Amino acid sequence: MTDTSSLDLMAPAPAQARKETTAGNYFVSNYPPFSFWKPEFVQEAHAALDRAPKPGTPLGVYLHIPFCRKRCHFCYFKVYTDKDSAAIKAYIDAALKELQLYSGRPFIGGRKPSFIYFGGGTPSYLSVSQLRSLTDGMKALLPWDAADEITFECEPGTLTDHKLKAIRELGVTRLSLGVENFSDHILEINGRAHRSQEIGRAYAHARALDFPQINIDLIAGMVEETEANWRECIEKTIQLQPDSVTIYQMEIPFNTTIYKQMKAEGKLVAPVADWETKRGWVNCAFAELERAGYTVASAYTVVKNEERTHFRYRDRLWAGADLIGLGVASFGHIGGTHYQNEPDFEPYLRAITQGRLPAYRALTPSEDERLIREFVLQLKLGRVSGAYFQNKFGVDIRQRFSVPLRTLEDWGFLKVAGDAVALNREGLLQVDRLLHEFFRPEHKNARYA
Ligand code: SF4
Repeated sequence: MTDTSSLDLMAPAPAQARKETTAGNYFVSNYPPFSFWKPEFVQEAHAALDRAPKPGTPLGVYLHIPFCRKRCHFCYFKVYTDKDSAAIKAYIDAALKELQLYSGRPFIGGRKPSFIYFGGGTPSYLSVSQLRSLTDGMKALLPWDAADEITFECEPGTLTDHKLKAIRELGVTRLSLGVENFSDHILEINGRAHRSQEIGRAYAHARALDFPQINIDLIAGMVEETEANWRECIEKTIQLQPDSVTIYQMEIPFNTTIYKQMKAEGKLVAPVADWETKRGWVNCAFAELERAGYTVASAYTVVKNEERTHFRYRDRLWAGADLIGLGVASFGHIGGTHYQNEPDFEPYLRAITQGRLPAYRALTPSEDERLIREFVLQLKLGRVSGAYFQNKFGVDIRQRFSVPLRTLEDWGFLKVAGDAVALNREGLLQVDRLLHEFFRPEHKNARYA
């Protein structure tokens, strides 16, 4: 194991680094910030559906399955733990109707999806028959035969052998297991529904079923995490030999149970490790995984075999792919317009029943905002190619971003070499907070979500 005292050698963070974990968003998943997406722009998303796609733009489908066995204390997603089978059936029917509303529009332009993502919530919460009716319906509307990646998020405790076999038969190529931690105590105290025994059993069976790619998700800095336990988590992960490992640093957005508890107790600091410690834990995990033969592929991901293991959903989205976002609170991008669906169950179902697309807020970024979006998202990979931006936007990123690039260079996190921009490990470990330097002035220091 890496001695974490080596963390002391990391470049000092600039003055604005948040040391303690306080409430708010850390992870940057899109740009411009969601707080700038508005109901009055939804019409632009509708108009985009009537235009033919830009030639060569890949199309993806994301479906949010908002059901979970329990709500984790750190969860900030739209999830329901109280829906019965009738409500779940109504939801599946609505998602299929929603896809139907898209499928005939000029925006599709004869395209078939090249990637599909089932996220949540817990997609594996659905029964085998619910999964079959859902995916049969989706394939009938937009066939999956051109899709080279179908990702399915799972909570280990929901995976019976029978269900895993069915998931494999549906055509899933990338199974993503929400392990988060291997300690039963930490899983319990953070409100997770599964336990370590279920991880081992589900993983072994998934391996036996020969899924092309199995990813394990971990979270660095769960409540009561310790260095010793984190090291054990890394060891156990390496023993399993997944194709990829995704590690998030614990953040406490305002809609989490942990934040509500903090507020009730009048506390400003969350009961989790500070940011330096969390970065140190991810650094340690990356070093150990590299020693075990893995390669760091992004700020959050290591892969066992770089040639074979891809994450098309991420790479295509970060390069401006179109995405049909289906389901409650889902995010999509169509023909240059971002949108998000109704964030609550009943309004979502009502819109579909009325034959309307359920987008409730949207934004059409300017050309410069699109450039910033792709630049900041691709910077999470650790390296950005100037030629890509020159070809696509006709812009030299060294000039467009000369000020923030110099700032990050001065802070010791980044180098510009030739036409490429590359973060060092220290920069990569805290990339999300550095990305704000590239935002337009009106988006800096603005509410993100
Ligand atoms: S399993 Fe995932 S989506 Fe469900 S409550 Fe936990 S963190 Fe949220």
